[in-house]
Amino acid sequence: MTALIIDGRKLAEQSNLRTKADAESFTKETKRPPSLVMLLIGADAGSKKYLNSKKKLANSLGLDASILEFDEDTTQKDIIDQIVLLNRDSEVDAILVQLPLPSKFDEEKILCKISPKKDVDGLHPELIGRLVLTGDDSCQLPCTPIGILKLVLEGRRQLGESSDLSGLRAVVLGRSNLVGKPSGILLHNHNATLTQCHSKTKDLDDIVKQADILVVATGKPNLITGDMLKPGAIVIDVGITYLDDGKIVGDCDFESCKLVAGAITPVPGGVGPMTMAMLMSNVLICANNNKDK
Ligand code: NAP
Repeated sequence: MTALIIDGRKLAEQSNLRTKADAESFTKETKRPPSLVMLLIGADAGSKKYLNSKKKLANSLGLDASILEFDEDTTQKDIIDQIVLLNRDSEVDAILVQLPLPSKFDEEKILCKISPKKDVDGLHPELIGRLVLTGDDSCQLPCTPIGILKLVLEGRRQLGESSDLSGLRAVVLGRSNLVGKPSGILLHNHNATLTQCHSKTKDLDDIVKQADILVVATGKPNLITGDMLKPGAIVIDVGITYLDDGKIVGDCDFESCKLVAGAITPVPGGVGPMTMAMLMSNVLICANNNKDK
C-alpha cells in the first residue's frame, strides 16, 4: 500500500479563496484593502524572488502589498526607525522583515520592534509567549508551523481519522524558532505527546519509529527513509534543499517513505504553498487587529 499524498497546493488554494473573500469584505467595510509592507534588506536574489512571489499572490487576493528595499550599508537604526514609522501608520496593517538578514544585523532586536499586532510572521515574543502560555491560537501564528498543523489535520481527515490528536505521539525533528519549536508547541497544544529532536538527539531512529506524526525540518536531504517510519505515520516534510541540477528535495526520501507512511507531503507542493497561504491569512488577522484598535 502506498501513502495518501497530502496536497499542500490544493489546501493552500482553499485557504487563499477564503482570504480573498475576507479581503473583499474588509475592503468594502473600510474603503481600503488590507495592506502588507515587506522589508528586504540586502541584495539576496533568492529572498528578492521569494518576496516578489509573496507580493504577486497578495495582489491576486486583493491585498495591497509593497516591498521596501534597503541595501546592506543601511544601519540597524535606519531599519528600526522605518519599522517604528510603519507601526504608527494607520494605513499599514501588516509588516514583514524577510529573513535571513545579512549577518551584521541583529535579527532578534529588529523582529522585536514590529508591533505584535502587525507582525504578520507571528514571530514576536509576545505572540509566541501567548501561544506557549495560553495556547491562544486566535492571533497570528508563525506561518510555516500553522501550515504544518493544518497539513497534519488534513492527513488525518484523508485517513478517515478525527482532528483530535490525543494519544498520538508527535516527533518533530528540528528546534529552530522559525519552524521546529513553534510546530512542536502547536502539536502539543492539540494534545499530541511531543518529542522534539535536534542534531544532538541520541537514538533518533528509535524515536522516529514511534512517531504517529513526524515533522521533519532539518534541511538534511534523505535524513528519513521508509524503513525508519512507523507504518501508517503522517509525515510532513518541511525541508527544502536545492540540488546542483536545480531539483528541489525535502528531508525525506519520498519514494521509500511513501511505501510505509499513511499520508505524506510532497516536496515541492506540500509545506511551501501552505506557508504562503498562512502568510496571506495572517495579513487579514493583522488588518482586523488594526481596524479594531
Ligand atoms: P535551521 O534553523 O537550520 O534548523 C535546522 C534544525 O534541524 C536545527 O534545530 C538542527 O538541530 C536540526 N537538525 C539538523 N540535523 C539534524 C539531524 N541529523 N537530526 C535531527 N535534527 C537535526 O532550519 P529551519 O529554518 O528550521 O528550516 C528547516 C528546513 O525547512 C530547511 O530546509 C528550510 O529550507 C525549510 N523551510 C521550509 C519552509 C517552507 O515553507 N517549505 C519554511 C521554512 C523552512 P540543532 O538545533 O541542534 O542545530
